[in-house]
Amino acid sequence: MPAKATKARAKVLVHHDLCKGCGLCVRACPQHLLEIQKGEINRLGYYPVHFAAESCSGCAACFHACPEPDGLTIIRTLPAAEEKEEPCRER
Ligand code: SF4
Ligand code: SF4
Repeated sequence: MPAKATKARAKVLVHHDLCKGCGLCVRACPQHLLEIQKGEINRLGYYPVHFAAESCSGCAACFHACPEPDGLTIIRTLPAAEEKEEPCRER
């Protein structure tokens, strides 16, 4: 099923040389925006994950799934004023 369109709020920076290619972030992403690309290995000898989009919802599920410290960084792109119009509903 195709991913539901959501407002672009962020992008993900993958630190390729820290990634061990475990795929946990790939499985965690509800928008299917991360993928393991076979072909180029990193300095640790793994196929690193790639952010396969220009933007995403910024839910941070990938960040919390990653067991590697500093494996992923979420970069917020939505202006702060716009964030106030849609307050976070998490408790
Ligand atoms: S922040 Fe959320 S939507 Fe964006 S790549 Fe990570 S899991 Fe997917
Ligand atoms: S969860 Fe972390 S270590 Fe695993 S593939 Fe994703 S970025 Fe790499």
